[in-house]
Amino acid sequence: MTSLLIQNGTILDPSQKIERKADLLLRDGKVAQIGTNLGGADRVIDASGRLVTPGLIDVHVHFREPGDEEEETIASGAGTAVAGGFATVCCMPNTKPPLDNEAAIEFVLREGGRVGLANVFPIGAITKGRSGQELAEIGSMHARGAVAFSDDGVGVGDPAVMRKALQYSKMFDTVLMQHCEEPALSGGSMHAGLVSTVLGLSGVPAEAEQLMIARDLLLNRTIGCRYHVQHISTAWSVELVRRARKDGQKWVSCEVAPHHLLLTDEMCRSFDTNYKMNPPLRTHGDVRACIEGVIDGTIDCLATDHAPHLAEEKELEFPSAPFGIIGLECALALYVKALVEPGHIRWMRLIKMMTSNGAQIVKLGNKGTLKEGSDGDVTIIDPNMKWTIDAEEFVSKSRNCPFHGWEVTGRAVATIVGGEVKWELKRS
Ligand SMILES: [Zn+2]
Ligand SMILES: [Zn+2]
Repeated sequence: MTSLLIQNGTILDPSQKIERKADLLLRDGKVAQIGTNLGGADRVIDASGRLVTPGLIDVHVHFREPGDEEEETIASGAGTAVAGGFATVCCMPNTKPPLDNEAAIEFVLREGGRVGLANVFPIGAITKGRSGQELAEIGSMHARGAVAFSDDGVGVGDPAVMRKALQYSKMFDTVLMQHCEEPALSGGSMHAGLVSTVLGLSGVPAEAEQLMIARDLLLNRTIGCRYHVQHISTAWSVELVRRARKDGQKWVSCEVAPHHLLLTDEMCRSFDTNYKMNPPLRTHGDVRACIEGVIDGTIDCLATDHAPHLAEEKELEFPSAPFGIIGLECALALYVKALVEPGHIRWMRLIKMMTSNGAQIVKLGNKGTLKEGSDGDVTIIDPNMKWTIDAEEFVSKSRNCPFHGWEVTGRAVATIVGGEVKWELKRS
């Protein structure tokens, strides 16, 4: 029997609509009780002035193992996750080789377990080799523990393959996550618009994303498979999801990344490749529409798309550099800056979008909640802590972060996974 008592904090649990000062007792890796005067425990943490929330969940990260271990491993990735307050992450299958079979799924689960920091759940590829041609073994990967399916990095271009994937996934009630980018319109290195024209860089039009979302929503209209739009980035994409919901397609969900809430294509004028991501940074109007989508609930959850790359790769010229930035260690504060500080949403909604909503999408019923008997995953947050993002201090193996040097507010101070403290902020 091991027990941990978190005292004097404000419990914030959207799954039970709890927001009040109380103590939280964890016992044997599970949530035992919320209350007052809960008695002794093996360890007591004082959480005065802090928020005590379900362990944060990120349904979209890239850990690069197997294949690019110099950029990130499951071990370093799980380390960077807990250092950002994340107790649970779902990693994308675009590794080398890709996670497109049972053995690969088992490898990630086993390695995540061996490391023993954050919970690491694998997402399987939709198609073999992520080539978009032949369906991967979705059934057996699902049985082995893949929590979702995606060919992330590319969208499934062939409508016949996508239709089959939707029909097949529906049988297992699993969720298909789409990197929405019509291949025929892809290939550019930034958003196609005024700035790309001025800079002479090739662009990816907003329609590349919108076309695939529209197509998938149509294909799925009568199938009704659980379908998730990854890293939504354009105004019309948000509108398409909103209309699908109004049309009764309750199985549709979507996520947005911090950079699409805070940055625009104007940043690319610096030619800093830390502003190169896929989907690309869009316009002010798109950012505003994504925020509106959060406010009215069209966007369900927040996800980092944590994408580590080597410095020497990111130092290439803009058209040649790889897409993506890292995000796990600064995401919480960035969401606060984009959404809570301007008054768009309250902390309760923020935590809902970072816990129970994600848990629901990937069906992790015992996570994202502080209900009695659920997994003892907890994040303790100082909502008022002011700090400066310093990529050099990140636990991640990579440093590609455009938010380096930003002054932010709000930070996780402890991450507890399965009843054990896996990370605590060191006091300087
Ligand atoms: Zn993607
Ligand atoms: Zn991604």
